[in-house]
Amino acid sequence: MKVLVINSGSSSLKYQLIDMETEGVIAKGNCERTGIDKSKLTHKAKGLEVVVEKDMPDHNVAVSLVLKALTDAQHGVISSMDEIDAVGHRVVASGEAFKKPTLVTEETMITMEEIKDLAPLHNPAAIVGVKACQAAMPGKPMVLVFDTGFHFTMPDYAYMYAIDYNHYEQYKIRRYGAHGTSHKFVSQEAAKYLGKKPEELKIVTCHLGNGSSITAVDGGKCVDTSMGFTPLAGVPMGTRSGDIDFAAAEYLAKKEGMDVSAALNYLNKKCGMLGISGVSSDFRDLTAAADNGNDRARLALDMFSYACKKYVGAYAAAMNGVDCIVFTAGVGENTSCVREAICENMQYMGLEIDKEKNLEKNNGAIRDITGKNSKVKVLIIPTNEELVIARETVELL
Ligand code: ADP
Repeated sequence: MKVLVINSGSSSLKYQLIDMETEGVIAKGNCERTGIDKSKLTHKAKGLEVVVEKDMPDHNVAVSLVLKALTDAQHGVISSMDEIDAVGHRVVASGEAFKKPTLVTEETMITMEEIKDLAPLHNPAAIVGVKACQAAMPGKPMVLVFDTGFHFTMPDYAYMYAIDYNHYEQYKIRRYGAHGTSHKFVSQEAAKYLGKKPEELKIVTCHLGNGSSITAVDGGKCVDTSMGFTPLAGVPMGTRSGDIDFAAAEYLAKKEGMDVSAALNYLNKKCGMLGISGVSSDFRDLTAAADNGNDRARLALDMFSYACKKYVGAYAAAMNGVDCIVFTAGVGENTSCVREAICENMQYMGLEIDKEKNLEKNNGAIRDITGKNSKVKVLIIPTNEELVIARETVELL
């Protein structure tokens, strides 16, 4: 069985064709700058990389170029679209409308339209991506897999905000979390690596990238997560503020003459590592600047690590202990100084890392950086959100 996974962003469309017998990637690629000028498709298959520079005014054109690349006589990997058995689509926000992966039907697409303002940058793009695939492959079974899905096991006292309960009921305002497929994947991989069942473990998964979230996984189920109603909450991120006192934001907005949407845009795009450092949102630039004596870059890194450390401690409290901490995503897999800072002074909970192993380069495999006296395992696990989407697509069908 071959599953095509589609990840539609606001100006990009990423894809992977996965052979579900081996779970191997047959081909993958990315359409960049869709809807903007200078768009291009990068297609990787059979050890080769092909770049197609072509106007992609919308996702319809992007999808048809992807299908063309997949069936191309030279660098293609299938002879026709009939070889694709199903399509799995990544969707960022579900609200309470979808708690599980869901088959695409006319009815589900109506609900998708109704909830699209929950993630105004991402959900509309996913709708366009689904429609483009339907147009190119009529009748092909398709499944929506939600970033929020893994987090629906949170107890009510963890996902509720302390607002008027009627407003929760009326508008479904609550914590939903994000990066669910990644947290699910790495927590399951950790259990496999440790030779245990997920039910036997208390794990804190740290998905640290441009967007970052931390999740408490108790017995294989999410019991709390750092992102909130939207991916703005939790630890500070590349350009996002993370948790902030609403009154501070309101005070600033008044001083700067910003309306609500301008303030939200500011908190999403101008804050976090970029706002504090004034250098960059990218952790490679931040560590380089800090190493060269830039105090604000150092402060940004210190704030990030401190916020992550607090979540680890909070989730150990929530789960009555922790057996394993997992680092994943761009920063979690690559930025050793951040991992070291988060794990520093955690002996009180029996956690120590091996500093030498922590410095070893990312080789794309699972790395165990547990210190020799540590009771808590510390693992670096490359995430694979596409594989989870493909697995859930198959499972549902
Ligand atoms: P997202 O998927 O949220 O856009 P990623 O998981 O790709 O983000 O993470 C991007 C972050 O990872 C950037 O801040 C980048 O600096 C950091 N990073 C550090 N080292 C590397 C590396 N060797 N390769 C890729 N990203 C890295």
